Amino acid sequence: MRCPYCRHADSRVVDSREADDGQLIRRRRSCPECGKRFTTVEEAVLAVVKRSGVTEPFSRTKIIGGVRKSCQGRPVDEDSIALLAQRVEETIRAKGAAEIPSHEVGLAILGPLRDLDEVAYLRFASVYRSFDSLADFEREIETLRAAARARAGVGAEAATAAAGPAQ
Ligand SMILES: [Zn+2]
Repeated sequence: MRCPYCRHADSRVVDSREADDGQLIRRRRSCPECGKRFTTVEEAVLAVVKRSGVTEPFSRTKIIGGVRKSCQGRPVDEDSIALLAQRVEETIRAKGAAEIPSHEVGLAILGPLRDLDEVAYLRFASVYRSFDSLADFEREIETLRAAARARAGVGAEAATAAAGPAQ
């Protein structure tokens, strides 16, 4: 590894330690020419396999771009999108696989996006799941409504339980 200070072509590793639960290795390096020290990070490249069989490196930026497109005109800020992309990356890396099919990346986006904005979720799902009729949208909206009813129901029960028995 070239020294970032003096551009000397070689450096010596003086310390290596795992970080992020073994997901990456940080190395302290020392330059024999100028004596300065710097840190490098080594991480396994996560490959996304597209339907065509072509692989490309996983890109959080690409997820942000896709989600941002679905969120156009919606009250969703950039921070929420960045956080969503981070959650997606964590979910995918937690699987511990070196390669992941692109449809699994889409799948990992759907859940957090539904929590973030239901309209953006519908847009994303319509592309990702190739909706081709109104019936596809109706089915998905019905699922969203059922989930909302379930949440409201659970909330009401919890409130009743917290209030204790009547009388
Ligand atoms: Zn140097």
